[in-house]
Amino acid sequence: MSLVALRNLTKTYHAGTVPVEALRGLDFDMEEGEFVAVMGRSGSGKTTLLNIVGCVEKPTSGRYLLAGEEVAQLNDDQRSVLRLRRIGFVFQSYNLLPGMSAIDNVLLPTVYSGIPDAPQRAQEALARVGLDGRGHHLPSQLSGGEQQRVAIARALINSPSIILADEPTGNLDTRRGQEVLTLFQDLHREGITIVLVTHEQQVAQHAQRIVRLMDGRVVTDRRVDQPLDAAAVLAQMVAESEDAI
Ligand code: ADP
Ligand code: MG
Repeated sequence: MSLVALRNLTKTYHAGTVPVEALRGLDFDMEEGEFVAVMGRSGSGKTTLLNIVGCVEKPTSGRYLLAGEEVAQLNDDQRSVLRLRRIGFVFQSYNLLPGMSAIDNVLLPTVYSGIPDAPQRAQEALARVGLDGRGHHLPSQLSGGEQQRVAIARALINSPSIILADEPTGNLDTRRGQEVLTLFQDLHREGITIVLVTHEQQVAQHAQRIVRLMDGRVVTDRRVDQPLDAAAVLAQMVAESEDAI
């Protein structure tokens, strides 16, 4: 059974005078434990796809089965429960609350899920992303790469089975981006299913599979023969920057 199965999915937005068809009959399947990159031009429906898979938005029509459970027709509360239990989100712009410390940002999703030992788990999540001891810093006191790692710790706090990342390296220089990719590959090895939206081919080559969207549909879907090893690429970058000094 697929972890995610989307069938003839459509999403139409009615924001302005003209309806926008963001997804137009999209079919997509993903197994548990996969690492999939989603590519496609701006406006092709990538974020809409993540929001539907992540139970943030409801499709206009079509079916969405998550671990065999029909979610397309669930109400907002039911979708929130699923999202909290199963999904971690990571965004291009980190989306941390600026007035809150790193640790409090990581703790935010636990306010609703009420997991036991939340403070200790938040510490562990920060350590997991290499930010041990930085919990009391405000986002403004951290670099972009560090802020994104706080956001990844926040995504991990409820032990999600899926991480959905929307251009997570888009605001980072190549080295910090590579650190984030290293973290994603580690999480993937630990069994987390990952969907990563990117418009950079080099970033997508770290996934096992690349799906390309155009006009709200999947137009290509192919395996990556030899995914790049993020840690090896990072080590190479570090070595080259040391050579340059
Ligand atoms: P991508 O992430 O690939 O750039 P999106 O999924 O964000 O694409 O958007 C697909 C289309 O849907 C675009 O034309 C966009 O303008 C439109 N769209 C996305 N979100 C909304 C919204 N909340 N309201 C109205 N239109 C939207
Ligand atoms: Mg987008």
